[in-house]
Amino acid sequence: MRKPKIVILGAGYGGLMTATRLQKAVGTNEADIVLINKNDYHYETTWLHEASAGTLHHDRVRYDISGVIDRNKVEFIQGTAVEIKKEEKKVLLENGEVEYDYLVVALGGESETFGIKGLKEYAFSIINVNAARQIREHIELQFATYHTEEEKKDERLTIVVGGAGFTGIEFLGELGNRIPELCHEYDIDIHKVKIICVEAAPMVLPGFDPDLVEYAVAHLEKKGVEFRIGTAIKEATPEGIIVAKGEEEPEEIKAATVVWAAGIRGNGIIEKSGIEAMRGRVKVNLDLRVPEHENIFVIGDCSLMINEEINRPYPPTAQIAMQQGETCAKNIAALIHNKPLENFKPDIKGTVCSLGENDAIGVVFGKKLVGKKASFMKKVVDNRSLYMIGGAGLVLKKGKFNVL
Ligand code: FAD
Ligand code: NAD
Repeated sequence: MRKPKIVILGAGYGGLMTATRLQKAVGTNEADIVLINKNDYHYETTWLHEASAGTLHHDRVRYDISGVIDRNKVEFIQGTAVEIKKEEKKVLLENGEVEYDYLVVALGGESETFGIKGLKEYAFSIINVNAARQIREHIELQFATYHTEEEKKDERLTIVVGGAGFTGIEFLGELGNRIPELCHEYDIDIHKVKIICVEAAPMVLPGFDPDLVEYAVAHLEKKGVEFRIGTAIKEATPEGIIVAKGEEEPEEIKAATVVWAAGIRGNGIIEKSGIEAMRGRVKVNLDLRVPEHENIFVIGDCSLMINEEINRPYPPTAQIAMQQGETCAKNIAALIHNKPLENFKPDIKGTVCSLGENDAIGVVFGKKLVGKKASFMKKVVDNRSLYMIGGAGLVLKKGKFNVL
């Protein structure tokens, strides 16, 4: 009898969890497992703000996929998926195509620009390793050329961060550490540097604990960040951005660096493939399958599940993507073994937001944490995700141990 073929698209948190769990749950005589990813490495999306600011080298953020999967059980294909042909049960890649019996879509998110003019052309997004490298190098170039180029001198030292969600705040925290280093390196008076965070909502980290938010804002302001709250980015231009606060006249902020960290959407392949989605995220069934396409699972940032307690979608997080990967692997194994599928229920252990090297805020198991304790907890969370995918060996190789 022909063995079923399981194809996993994306080797991020969700995809790698699925692959590493499936290779244990399904025998090589029962199914073929294929993992497809753009690059031959996995990157820790949750560390990209550090690589973007330049506080962590980009090679620390990534590791080889072949080191964490069992190549005797999982075939790895380095390739870029371009479309899913649901009816024909195949995935089109840039170079070729792959057929499947069961498909797992774990392709992660893309920057959501809400159609705002100029963002795609003139703003950066913290979205993958190469984008992070580009941001780091662009910022460094501005400092390196400050004394040698007369044109747009002041703008060179102005950095705008759009959005004070978790990504924006964590990036600002890293800039708080990096900017003094750059000033020292390139003989620049730190008072000339402007870091402006523009947030459309009336508060920083909308919806998060107000005491912790206050702590974060005070910490970042001390490091030189200026917050423009209740102010929306309306346009990005070659010179900077246009912002507007309520009914007030729009204002131009000139800046050589604009980093858009104001939201993400699911991977564009979802919509291109004609799968019903909201901002690229598929409202999956409780067992993580796509309604009406019961051989397709969607997990991670491409999926959407409603938290019934507050009647709002769960946020797209690595925490949820990894847990979904585990359930997805169990459910595919259940289909192969003719067993009932289980429903996915997120187990949210908490949220920790880093504020730079040794500071953070968070709520863990319902307890509020700030400062070094929170920062320690963030590193525990970071190391845990390495452990879950690659075991103790990966933690030793890539883990964060600079705890104090
Ligand atoms: P990803 O982990 O992003 O992986 C997607 C994979 O698919 C990548 O390997 C990519 O290369 C590959 N891929 C994409 N397109 C294609 C294609 N066409 N063909 C082949 N391969 C493709 N969440 C938390 O829970 N805690 C945190 O502390 C946290 N911090 C964050 C910090 C930052 C700066 C950012 C940006 C996000 C953070 N998040 C955090 C959110 C978290 O990173 C995402 O929710 C998580 O990465 C989603 O996992 P995923 O498996 O869906 O996708
Ligand atoms: P987000 O959607 O959580 O926040 C985006 C912010 O941008 C919001 O505060 C929004 O009001 C603001 N915004 C939207 N349009 C704007 C505009 N035109 N001008 C100015 N501000 C605007 O996005 P994110 O911060 O990238 O987070 C994405 C996901 O990743 C979330 O689920 C988040 O929880 C997760 N994440 C988690 C962590 C962590 O746990 N430490 C870190 C980073 C990201």
